[in-house]
Amino acid sequence: MRIANHDDRLTLLAGDTAIDVSTASDGLFDHRIEHIYDRWDEFITWCRHHAPRAQSADAAGPGVAAVGAVSPRPRQIFGVGLNYVDHAAEAGSPLPTVPLLFTKFPSAIAGPNTTITLTGPSVDWEVELVVVVGRRCEKVNRADAWSHVAGLTVGQDISDRDVQLQGANSQYSFGKSFENFAPIGPVLVTPDEFDDPDSLALRCSVNGEIMQDGTSSNLVFPVSELIEYISARVTLFPGDLIFTGTPAGVGLGRSPRRYLRAGDVIVSTIEGIGGMTNKMTDLESASPESRHQAAGAR
Ligand code: ZN
Repeated sequence: MRIANHDDRLTLLAGDTAIDVSTASDGLFDHRIEHIYDRWDEFITWCRHHAPRAQSADAAGPGVAAVGAVSPRPRQIFGVGLNYVDHAAEAGSPLPTVPLLFTKFPSAIAGPNTTITLTGPSVDWEVELVVVVGRRCEKVNRADAWSHVAGLTVGQDISDRDVQLQGANSQYSFGKSFENFAPIGPVLVTPDEFDDPDSLALRCSVNGEIMQDGTSSNLVFPVSELIEYISARVTLFPGDLIFTGTPAGVGLGRSPRRYLRAGDVIVSTIEGIGGMTNKMTDLESASPESRHQAAGAR
């Protein structure tokens, strides 16, 4: 299944048809995508019955004005640092022996094509495979982990390096949680849609120049181990997100270092899911109105 948030409405994509779930289900499910994760099993069962029989009458409107985040109100967002061998090497860090976890605060969530305001001279890109939780996870074994995943989407773990690495004991979370620093989308793809959900090519370009070109098969701690590790310590709730880490090629790892400037365009893609396009702007050119509109695309 491919599920999206089109014009603030829960949408099931079936072939060329975009089905408005609230309408097609006669209100069984409401239009807000964030409400679906607490009823995930029921929803997927409905999709399996409904999608093959979708009528053209079910199709949502002709165009999509705004594509929003696939999970706009997660209770928790986890990020994983140094989770690709090549990225740990470029960061000059030894490979972690246990997952290196931090949080991105949920207020940073944005739709996939949101314009992002630079917060300083060292804002960096990190394309990441993002897991959306579909079932509550408490002490889930890695063998059962994938059955707790609603689906996968594309994310950018936008990072202000000066803020992230400030102080003797750096704290990641604030540098990665400014407004719109967690764009996700454009669709949620259920794990059964992939030949191998543990081996997906992911790529990031800036102004057309390819910066990151990796595969999730190189994750130090794959999705199933991350879910086991996190859920042994805290409960994961439906709709929660795990940003699983970024491959090599970030600006911090380049010589000379290269960071984002106003006008830069980041394109982030993952095989079998799709892509997001994020334009960078600076504080001076971001009017309160345009910033408000960008936030509204969540
Ligand atoms: Zn990251």
